[in-house]
Amino acid sequence: MLGLRIFRRSIFTIDCDKCGVRFEPGAGGVCVTCQRILCPQHLHGSWVRRMMVDVGAPAICVECRAGATRLG
Ligand SMILES: [Zn+2]
Ligand SMILES: [Zn+2]
Repeated sequence: MLGLRIFRRSIFTIDCDKCGVRFEPGAGGVCVTCQRILCPQHLHGSWVRRMMVDVGAPAICVECRAGATRLG
């Protein structure tokens, strides 16, 4: 039983494409623009942005937002 718990925990982490940090999928996610898997720091940048995504805003990463003049 103990081994199963450790296994479950280790399988539910992914690496950030930008900085390589490990995080749980619920915390970060995939940018809809560049399709990279990013940690909350690089996807959202701030908790305000993360809250917006939680309520339905598209998940666009910090870099895409910074240079996203063609998004409309
Ligand atoms: Zn990162
Ligand atoms: Zn992006």
